[in-house]
Amino acid sequence: MSNIIDGKVVSAYIKDNVAKEVSALKEKGIETCLAVILVGSDPASQIYVANKKKACEALGIVSKEFVLPETTTEEELLSLIEKLNNDKSVNGILCQLPLPRGLDERVVINAISPLKDVDAFHPSNVGKIMIGDYDFAPCTPAGIMEMLDYYNISVEGKNCVVIGRSNIVGKPMSLLLLHKNGTVTTCHSRTKELKEVCSKADILVAAVGKANFVTADMVKEGAVVIDVGMNRSEGKLCGDVDFQAVKDKASFITPVPGGVGPMTIAVLMKNTLTAAKKQNLGI
Ligand code: NAP
Repeated sequence: MSNIIDGKVVSAYIKDNVAKEVSALKEKGIETCLAVILVGSDPASQIYVANKKKACEALGIVSKEFVLPETTTEEELLSLIEKLNNDKSVNGILCQLPLPRGLDERVVINAISPLKDVDAFHPSNVGKIMIGDYDFAPCTPAGIMEMLDYYNISVEGKNCVVIGRSNIVGKPMSLLLLHKNGTVTTCHSRTKELKEVCSKADILVAAVGKANFVTADMVKEGAVVIDVGMNRSEGKLCGDVDFQAVKDKASFITPVPGGVGPMTIAVLMKNTLTAAKKQNLGI
């Protein structure tokens, strides 16, 4: 029987620390502020944005929300981003993805000032992560690193296997594990002998987007299993890992829900605080 890595506990710990620092900044007359842009009316995006706003408010972070219609042009969106880039009261800017058809994600991401890019999607921040000299890392992989840290799970020298190579999760996850001296293998849809590769992992991260994709025969006895997946199966939220079967083999495992999910927003808050400190105090 494995230990459950409880994302609610770790995220509460991080948010608590962020709230304390936000309050200390406030005492120095510095407000911490996150601007969130939502274009269109995608229901999932609306929920994510509402949750981000709620988290900000709970931690004393000022939340500015900009809801734009589906018909927004690239020019209009870029003009808002430019305004927020130049607004000294705004520390972090996040444009909720995906964008409606007709708007180019890359153009929008590139327009956000790297100093305010709390999602860490700007090429400049991506490059900084590559060389291991960064202020922000993308929220989900950074949240996973926080979890490993909280549970004193060392990465050094471990065989780490990441399934998935998206720019948002898989690739930065592999880099963060590498920076912690893991021996990292990144797998994807063209990987051959996936089961063999995974079954050698001391730390296995699944970021595939397919329910119950990781089965017990892919997992080494005693492995740490991190499930990033957020899939709907028969109306229920489930991860990429067959939790019931894998939990008896893993030494540590994240559940879905209540695992990686809550970490993403916690790190977003932390990144916003980091941006506020950098912009106001230079630290
Ligand atoms: P994505 O962009 O769709 O990437 C999925 C990755 O899985 C791709 O690299 C793909 O390989 C790989 N893959 C697909 N089928 C495979 C197979 N049969 N064998 C091996 N690899 C395979 O997804 P994402 O944005 O990284 O997200 C992954 C999952 O995490 C989703 O369920 C998403 O909802 C969830 N997620 C959760 C959070 C959170 O806060 N918990 C945050 C972000 C994402 P190719 O590159 O070859 O296509």
